[in-house]
Amino acid sequence: FMAAKSHEGYEVYTPSFDDHSPRRLTLMSELRQAIEREQLHLYYQPKISLKSGQLYGAEALVRWHHPRHGFISPDEFIPMAERTRVIKHLTLWALKKTFRQCADWHNQGLSLIVSVNLSTRDLHDPELPDIIAGIAASTGINPGWMMLEITESSIMTDPERSLDIIQRLHEMGYQLSIDDFGTGYSSLAYLKKMPLTELKIDKSFVSDVLQSENDAVIVKATINLAHNLGLKVTAEGVESKQIFDLLNSYDCDIAQGYFFSKPISIDAFNLWMQNHAAANRQNPDPS
Ligand code: C2E
Ligand code: MG
Ligand code: MG
Ligand code: MG
Repeated sequence: FMAAKSHEGYEVYTPSFDDHSPRRLTLMSELRQAIEREQLHLYYQPKISLKSGQLYGAEALVRWHHPRHGFISPDEFIPMAERTRVIKHLTLWALKKTFRQCADWHNQGLSLIVSVNLSTRDLHDPELPDIIAGIAASTGINPGWMMLEITESSIMTDPERSLDIIQRLHEMGYQLSIDDFGTGYSSLAYLKKMPLTELKIDKSFVSDVLQSENDAVIVKATINLAHNLGLKVTAEGVESKQIFDLLNSYDCDIAQGYFFSKPISIDAFNLWMQNHAAANRQNPDPS
């Protein structure tokens, strides 16, 4: 990996899909087609309340099974889509899908908070709030059921412009989350100004929290910082019971990670919810 500075901030170039390579251009036009042809899928990963052990919500994560290249990780194609207008199509598609899924769950009496990831460009698009309002109206969701995840680095790319969009989304009733916290450089002054609901601690800190004294200190301090700013804290990358228990002792609010489930298809997620609810009825005390 190599970082390069552009007018938009730092970008990461992957050697396998170089920015100007024909392969990358082909891949991006294929991505547009994949969106239109419904070849992308959203998987869902559960988020669990640490105190109660109850299901809190789910994060939607995109999956692309390419006919020739096989599985391509979103970490690879999202940054590419970000540098082209393809991201706008992908975000629109993801918002429509997740809002509809959220409406479905709520119609079934399942009051999940559904998280969806936004990209840097989305946060700078003055049309985004109206687009979101349109999708909310057509799917019948209550904005308070949705959590919009924005990364720390995308906010800091252009904080003033992002703040404006974030403010509008907040006034519309959406919950807002700052994702990948700890991996970028955020100014606490801006963080304080943003009407956020949730802070997500990046999995790079969480996964080593048992081995690394430094990471434990960072995780603990971040939880306190977030609580002092009035934010709920989600830890991502929770891979074991020991990490779960440690986070609980740190007063973390929500856990997400392979310990509960990887991101899975909607059918698998519905089944997972049934099993989780049954297990909770048998053993209501999570610890
Ligand atoms: P993210 O939003 O920070 O999502 C969390 C990532 O951590 C996901 O990777 C998830 O599968 C992974 N993860 C969760 N728990 C664990 C764990 O216990 N262990 C490990 N090793 N990993 C865990 P994924 O699905 O590959 O997505 C990578 C990134 O791609 C996301 O990071 C997000 O930034 C981006 N992305 C994914 N879907 C979308 C989308 O629909 N729109 C946009 N704009 N970005 C997306
Ligand atoms: Mg996320
Ligand atoms: Mg994250
Ligand atoms: Mg991430």
